[in-house]
Amino acid sequence: MIIVLKQGVPEARVDELKKWIESQGLVVSPIYGSEKTVLGLVGDTSCLSTDEVSMYEAVEKVLKVQEPFKKANRKFHPENTIIKVGDVLVGGRELVVIAGPCSVESEDQITQIAMQVKRAGASMLRGGAFKPRTSPYAFQGLRAEGLMLLKRAGEAAGLPIVSEITNPIYIELFDQYVDLIQVGARNMQNFELLKELGRLKKPILLKRGFANTLEEMLMACEYIMSEGNENVILCERGIRTHETYTRNTLDLSAVPALKRMSHLPVLVDPSHGCGLSWMVEPLSKAAVAAGADGLIIEVHNNPMVALSDGPQSITPDEFSYIMPKLREYARIEGRNIPVGHSVAYAGTPGSFSYEAAEKLFPTSAMVGLERFEDVCEAVSLGKAEAGVLPVENTLAGKVTEATELIERYGLEIADRLKLKIRMNLVAPSGTDLNSIRKIYSKDKAIEQCGKFLGEHPEYRIIPFSTTSAAAQAVSALNDKCSAAIASASAARLNRLQILVSDIQDSDENYTEFVVVKTK
Ligand code: PEP
Ligand code: MN
Repeated sequence: MIIVLKQGVPEARVDELKKWIESQGLVVSPIYGSEKTVLGLVGDTSCLSTDEVSMYEAVEKVLKVQEPFKKANRKFHPENTIIKVGDVLVGGRELVVIAGPCSVESEDQITQIAMQVKRAGASMLRGGAFKPRTSPYAFQGLRAEGLMLLKRAGEAAGLPIVSEITNPIYIELFDQYVDLIQVGARNMQNFELLKELGRLKKPILLKRGFANTLEEMLMACEYIMSEGNENVILCERGIRTHETYTRNTLDLSAVPALKRMSHLPVLVDPSHGCGLSWMVEPLSKAAVAAGADGLIIEVHNNPMVALSDGPQSITPDEFSYIMPKLREYARIEGRNIPVGHSVAYAGTPGSFSYEAAEKLFPTSAMVGLERFEDVCEAVSLGKAEAGVLPVENTLAGKVTEATELIERYGLEIADRLKLKIRMNLVAPSGTDLNSIRKIYSKDKAIEQCGKFLGEHPEYRIIPFSTTSAAAQAVSALNDKCSAAIASASAARLNRLQILVSDIQDSDENYTEFVVVKTK
């Protein structure tokens, strides 16, 4: 039963009502909304008649809650509940994307994945340490050691961590180390575990059992909430049907249904939902369109050799490719997927500035802009938290354009990095060195290769905004007489071949980069 109170009613009248309800052996759970205060009654309310309650002066309206789930019921709490996990808010305007491997396998594996998913915009890191596997012969997880590795990786990347608990005996360990405790599909009705979790304050991620109805899921949730822990996040992860093409059938209708039945946030796990890595992208988009508050996605740096759930794991590169698309879907729904900390640099991936920015900010999102001035502008307008610019090169001297812009925009230098620069002559594969006539590159890169270019008077030099843009142009031209002077990574990213490596005048060639911020 739910009692809606009249606005502005004296406190004494409310107390009088509460006392009477409690004398009937019921628990009163007040919910203070932005407009109205509501009293939720927990317990057997069958002895209470609506008329009897309505006689109290404080009462505006009385509603009977037919459903057996009370605390999770939207009628009890009409507004969406927002749950805080570390600094991340779940259930608000921002969608949360939790990413990471099915299992923590090693320090290197989890740390690498953590950095990469953070950079693409993930807001939490997942990783199983105690694995509930169908076969006792399959990998069971690194257990407590796995949790420690996950915690360290989460701290390094600045991400709260999510991991599954399988047994109440580990409650203290999880309460101490994990930010969001997952109850997996196989344990959704492990009522002893649910009751124990209900005595914590930690948020719980409750996954739907693969043979359970939504009502059973909300009743499982009620076990946690009725013990006092109301920080529950629900998760649809697919149910078992007659279909065998996919590992499970992802029941996306659960999202609008649960959002209507309950005020709690609802996430979707497309990875376990289908079991196929290539289907994760379309199902993630569909989940966002269906109104999910976020996603939990399995990401592995080498799915082929993953110790669990490799076939459904996407790579960090695939994850970075999907995230901007999900951002667009979220925007249509009036939601937002935060980009996180972003760093602006001049050029495209493969430029030396990109390399420097990546070294300086391994977990930030990279924003490639065309000119040095665009970088300074983005920083001064707050579109990027920091910018990375080259200021001096061993062979080509000071980059006066950059230093003048830093001055003009009134930016502050917050950090510096010296990067060894190796220049290469790069061209589409199969290009004959003797047929090259046109060289595309940035002026400063051209200056660093004076000796090599001096030996080739037949070359026509075409200045370009950045070395990476020059590599991109040469790849697009594909005309067998054009080459670029660029980095090895620009060659790799643009599918170009290195015709001559290390063409800079000296092996001791460094560029100093600076990090610029607003004062
Ligand atoms: C998992 O998240 O790795 C997992 C085992 O999920 P589920 O409980 O949904 O199968
Ligand atoms: Mn898994």
